[in-house]
Amino acid sequence: MSAVFEANGRRYAPPDRPIVVICIDGCGDEYLSVSISRGRMPHMERMARNGYRGLVRGVVPSFTNVNNASIVTGVPPAINGVSGNFFLNPETGEEVMMNSPEYRRCGTLLTAAADAGRKVAFITAKEKLRTVLGDGIVERGGIVFSSEKVDEARYETHGIDDAESIIGRPRPEIYSADASVYVLEAGAALLAQQKADFLYLSLTDYMQHKFAPEEAESLEFHAAMDEQIGRFLDTDCIMAATADHGMNAKNRDDGTPNVIYVESLLTAKFGEGCRVICPVTDPYVVHHGSLGALVMVHLDKPAMAGEVANFLLEQDGVTEVLTRDHAAAKLELPADRIGDLVVLSGRSVVLGKTPEYHNLKVLHQGLRSHGGRYEEMVPLVISHPLKSEYIRKAQGDPRNFDVFDFACNGTC
Ligand SMILES: [Zn+2]
Repeated sequence: MSAVFEANGRRYAPPDRPIVVICIDGCGDEYLSVSISRGRMPHMERMARNGYRGLVRGVVPSFTNVNNASIVTGVPPAINGVSGNFFLNPETGEEVMMNSPEYRRCGTLLTAAADAGRKVAFITAKEKLRTVLGDGIVERGGIVFSSEKVDEARYETHGIDDAESIIGRPRPEIYSADASVYVLEAGAALLAQQKADFLYLSLTDYMQHKFAPEEAESLEFHAAMDEQIGRFLDTDCIMAATADHGMNAKNRDDGTPNVIYVESLLTAKFGEGCRVICPVTDPYVVHHGSLGALVMVHLDKPAMAGEVANFLLEQDGVTEVLTRDHAAAKLELPADRIGDLVVLSGRSVVLGKTPEYHNLKVLHQGLRSHGGRYEEMVPLVISHPLKSEYIRKAQGDPRNFDVFDFACNGTC
């Protein structure tokens, strides 16, 4: 089992025991704090007590694809190329969905681990993550499937037949708590049946989009996840948990979504020629109505960037406006896949394109979303104590995409 491998300039030397990394989608640290303080996550509490719990910095845009891509490559978007769900292709002027591995500019550490002889399993809640990040694993003898389409898993394409009977339950509904819990159950089943010894389990943030940490549904959800976490802790695996991003309510005091329609504002002020891309846009519109705390602004006349940036910075709720060069440098983004300006909003504010572009009717209970600075810091919990070198690393500026490094190299 203990095979040393390298991926994207980083060396991983996992110990001779299973490695399980979970990405609890949308899990701001307050979800763990509230659930633990109310006694609903005893296994997570034990994991933190016996091992390590702290905060790590995710990637901004604090979106799912961006952060999952960074976690499985171990490097930021400047290197892996994944800057959002959508980007504007500078050559064609068309909005392109980054829905296949061809948009990624480097391989994953999962395929490197499989090449080194580990039995890799990558299980996601969302099918889109499987298709974007799961390439090359099945060819190397590993297993890749999503709970969303677990019933379609076949040995030739997913590395596994009869997944539902191995897990012991049929496919869950994607818009549910179960879609996430099922991923953990699947991982625990594969581990118990020795079908995998190097696992990445990535959940969905449907529940976090709908419920605040202290709501009953949220507490139930965390208790159900915790039961599965207990199954892993009962084995000899090293387990690490982190998140892709946090989650915040984005509503006005009257409960309506607190949206700034950036393209509408810019068109009113400067006329045509300012195009807004919402890189959070994805097929799971029930989650967020394509409204997040970061948008890209593309200008027909890039020379106007300074003037437009100053105007946007005057708007209440806009917290940062970065030029393309600054965003590429400070957010570690690929310069050719972001706007002339990258605009970020405050904790309770989201940025949109125009009122017509977003369907707010899908948001029944108000809006909770992510994408900006206020969802950037996420938890890191590790089942075993850290080596002194990694304690120091954790006290510096650890990243969520260091999670495999911590799990493979960092424990005593
Ligand atoms: Zn997410």
